[in-house]
Amino acid sequence: MSNAAETGTSFRRVSERPTVLAVPDPQHRWRCGGRGNMTRFDVVREARTREFWHLDPAGAATVDDTDILSERVASVSCRWCGRDDVIEVVARPGAESG
Ligand SMILES: [Zn+2]
Repeated sequence: MSNAAETGTSFRRVSERPTVLAVPDPQHRWRCGGRGNMTRFDVVREARTREFWHLDPAGAATVDDTDILSERVASVSCRWCGRDDVIEVVARPGAESG
C-alpha cells in the first residue's frame, strides 16, 4: 500500500477534499468533520435536465415535469460552520451489514 507519488518532499496541499462528493444514498450520508453536523448543508448542484414546458395561450410558461438526466454535486458546505473542505461521506447507522 505504498504511495508511488510520495517523494518525501514537504509541501502544503491547498485542499485535500475530493473534487466531487458522492450524493447520499441508502448506505451513506454526509457529515461535517469539523462540528459533527449531519443534517444541515448548503449544496451546489449542476444538473442536466429535460423539462416539459407548458405554455398557456398568452405565452406564459410553466414547467410541468422535470427529468434529471445527469447531475453533479459541485460543493457541499456545512450550515453550522460554513466550511466545505471537511465534509465527508460516512456510513449510515445500521447500513454496515447491508
Ligand atoms: Zn460544520
